[in-house]
Amino acid sequence: MSTAHLTIDLDALADNWRALDARTKSETAAVVKANGYGLGAGRVAAHLAKAGARSFFVAAAEEGVAVRKAVGPGPMIGVFSGHMEGDAATLRANALTPMINSVDQMLRHVERLPGHRFGIQLDTGMNRLGLEPDDWAQLREIALGQNPVLIMSHLACADEPGHEMNQKQLRLFKEMTNGIDVRRSLAATGGILLGSEYHFDMCRPGVGLYGGEPFDEAKAVVTLDLPVIQVRDVAKGETVGYSNTWTASRPSRIATVAAGYADGLHRALGRGIELYAGKTACPVVGRVSMDLITVDITDLDHEPDALQMLNRLQTVDDLAEAAGTIGYEILTSMGQRYRRTYVSRSEVVERAVESIRDKLRRVKPGLISESAAE
Ligand SMILES: *Cc1c(COP(=O)(O)O)cnc(C)c1O
Repeated sequence: MSTAHLTIDLDALADNWRALDARTKSETAAVVKANGYGLGAGRVAAHLAKAGARSFFVAAAEEGVAVRKAVGPGPMIGVFSGHMEGDAATLRANALTPMINSVDQMLRHVERLPGHRFGIQLDTGMNRLGLEPDDWAQLREIALGQNPVLIMSHLACADEPGHEMNQKQLRLFKEMTNGIDVRRSLAATGGILLGSEYHFDMCRPGVGLYGGEPFDEAKAVVTLDLPVIQVRDVAKGETVGYSNTWTASRPSRIATVAAGYADGLHRALGRGIELYAGKTACPVVGRVSMDLITVDITDLDHEPDALQMLNRLQTVDDLAEAAGTIGYEILTSMGQRYRRTYVSRSEVVERAVESIRDKLRRVKPGLISESAAE
C-alpha cells in the first residue's frame, strides 16, 4: 500500500468538544463545514452527536446532506451561507436551518419555504456575511415576526484576546439584539476563550474540536503516517530532490515517503519540518514534490516502514507555522487519497459488550434483561 494513512481519533474529538463545552454555561454546537475540517463530516458529526452535541453548522446547504444522514432527524443543522437561489429543495428535504444574511435571502425564504425554520446572521464589523445594522433595522420587525430560532454573528479577531475589535463587535451585537427574545450566538473557538460575556446562548467551535489553535489544550485528533517507498545511501556532496536544494554534508541515508503537495503538504513545508520514527525526529530534506517527500534517516538505527508527519509531537499548527499558514488550512487541505481510519476506544468497548450480549442471548435467552441492556 503506497498511500498515506490518516488516523482520526474520535475519542480525542469528543474530549475536545466536552472540554470546550465545560468552559461555558451555554449550548455547545459543532461546526463541521468543509467536510468536518477535512476529517469527514459524517463520521465527525455522528460521534459528536453521541457525545451530546445537539446543533451543527455547515457552510453550504449541500454540505448539510451528509450531516443530516449522520445525525438523524433531531439536531439542528445551521447553514452559514443562508438561503441561496436553488437551495429550497435541499433545505426542505434535509430539514436544514439557513442563517439568513440579507433582505433578499429573507424574501426568498418566506416565498419559497414559508414556515421553514431559519436563523439570522448579523454583520457586526467583519464585513463578510450577515445583515448590517441598516439592513437589520429595516428587516427586524418582519424577520422577528417569522420566529427565527437563532441570531448569530461572527468575530473577526477572536484569536487575539487583546484586540479592540472583540469589544467593539460585542457591543454592536448587544445593541442589535438586546431585548429580543431569540437565542443568540457570537463565539466560535476563539470567542469561547475570550470569556463568558461572549458566550450568550450558544457557542460554535470548529477548529478547537479538531485539535487546532487557538484552543491550546486541545488533544491531537489526527495522526498521519507516510509509507516509506525507498531508502538509499547518498554520498557526501550529493544532492537530493528538485533544484538540488539540499546537499549531503556527510554520508547519508535518505528515505522517500509517499505524500506531497498534492496531498496538502505544501511545498513551503520543506524547511524546519521533521518526520517521526517513534519519538525520533528525522528532518525533511530537499523540496516537497507532488507525491513524494525525502527525509534524512541517517541517525536512525533501523529502516522504518513508515514515518509520521502529524502526531502529538508535531501538530497541525506546527506544520502551519512551517508553511506560513494556519492550522485550519492544513486540516482542510488533507489529501483526498489518504486512507482514513477512525478509531474510538469507546466504540470498540461498546461493540465488544454488544457482541458478548449477543452471544449470551443466543446461549441463554432470558438471561439478559433487555431493559438492563440499555
Ligand atoms: C468557521 C466558523 C465557525 C467556527 O470557527 P472556528 O474558529 O473554527 O472555531 C463559527 N462560526 C462561523 C460563522 C464560521 O464561519
